[in-house]
Amino acid sequence: MIKLTERQDKILQIVKQNGPITGQEIAVKLSLTRAALRPDLAILTMSGKLDARPRVGYFFNENYEVKRQAEKFLHQQVIDYKAHPIVVDKSTAVYDAIVQLFLEDVGTLYAVDSRGHLAGVVSRKDLLRATLGNKNLHELPVSVIMTRMPNIFTIRPDATLLEAAKKMIDNHIDSLPVVKEVEEQRNTYFLLGRITKTTITRAYLEIMER
Ligand code: ADP
Repeated sequence: MIKLTERQDKILQIVKQNGPITGQEIAVKLSLTRAALRPDLAILTMSGKLDARPRVGYFFNENYEVKRQAEKFLHQQVIDYKAHPIVVDKSTAVYDAIVQLFLEDVGTLYAVDSRGHLAGVVSRKDLLRATLGNKNLHELPVSVIMTRMPNIFTIRPDATLLEAAKKMIDNHIDSLPVVKEVEEQRNTYFLLGRITKTTITRAYLEIMER
């Protein structure tokens, strides 16, 4: 996105509030000549921020504003929107994991190993599947039913919400663990947070309402 000059910003505001408005009328409001404004108006129309109609004048391009807001939203970083991860030890019994899911009111739990490194993802469906059959849910550890490393899709804190959204949609999953790689160890991560489809929706609403 190109950075506007202070004068171009002023023109944009004037058109937003008063449009459709002629170049001459804008010039009067800014105490400038029409000729002095010409390059600015050319830049604003060429970049799509303003539209111009002969004999009507300049008016604000609402589509541009929507696009600008959407871009702003999509380029936000994961680190600023991540939620707290709900973590269980991978030896936790499925029964206790289900209780935890309700207590914390989340859809996904992350399992960690004894060193605190991400070991697995336990989703609602994983837990539901485990309840089918005659397994002893008090004995069965989540490590048996979870999706394990290295099959976990993760996201880094400096990634954008767009990357996170795309990763969730492409891989048909509801959440992504936000991770930091443990130094020198491939596929070994510390858990920093989580990004869910709800996080993305909330960020979208927040930015659009601002
Ligand atoms: P739900 O079970 O509520 O539909 P998901 O769609 O997120 O939740 O999970 C579907 C499957 O994908 C589950 O088996 C789960 O373990 C797995 N899964 C969830 N998140 C991830 C992830 N980030 N990486 C890899 N697999 C995942």
